[in-house]
Amino acid sequence: MGTWADIAHVASEVVAETLWPTRCALCDAPGTVLCERCASNLPVLDWWSACPRCGSAYGRVQCDLCNPVSLMRIGRDSLPFAGCASATVFDEDTTGKLVRVYKDQGERRLAAVLAARMACMVAPSWGVDAVTFVPATKAAVRYRGFDHGELLAREISALLRVPCLPMLDRPRTRDQRALSGRERIANLGGSFSASSAPAGAEGLLLVDDVFTTGATLCAAADALIAVGACAVYGLTFARV
Ligand SMILES: [Zn+2]
Ligand SMILES: [Zn+2]
Repeated sequence: MGTWADIAHVASEVVAETLWPTRCALCDAPGTVLCERCASNLPVLDWWSACPRCGSAYGRVQCDLCNPVSLMRIGRDSLPFAGCASATVFDEDTTGKLVRVYKDQGERRLAAVLAARMACMVAPSWGVDAVTFVPATKAAVRYRGFDHGELLAREISALLRVPCLPMLDRPRTRDQRALSGRERIANLGGSFSASSAPAGAEGLLLVDDVFTTGATLCAAADALIAVGACAVYGLTFARV
């Protein structure tokens, strides 16, 4: 038998749920932020067919990014990661929509759902000691009221039981989504600054929501390596 305070708390939750019922971000079914059916239909990225270096979905044998021509397109001759993985393949109607509902419609409860899928992709052999994240632009944080990367990183750090360290900062840049591949590189050129990792943080997990061209994640990893990070592993929810 609960106390009156318990009963009042439950009652207030019932009222909130009646006025603003929780609905699936994809199919609108009532109950949870992502229903079981939609969750099981997400285009998962198969670890066994993905490139072990950059996480490209079908790159294990021949990668579409880890080759000189593709790397040149993002202005590089190599990638700064010791490893890279994504939980799902980007798809406008499913994984892309989840990211939009999370970021742009402010459904913060999705952070735990996305993070749980991301944490599963962290290989034990990576030896991750700490989690950090690609910070959102200051304008985006002001507009959305939260840093979507930080929230994901905090959830993942709790799941992996390692600290979350906000190590990266960025001066003002334009929202990457509105830009072409080349503009993205120009927009990002040296755009991150990092603080050094504390002693003992040898393997850093770098979290972001979507791996598009890799330009953002590479620029962030470069900044971490420049301040002495030993090994940087990239982790995103979706991979284009
Ligand atoms: Zn659903
Ligand atoms: Zn690759």
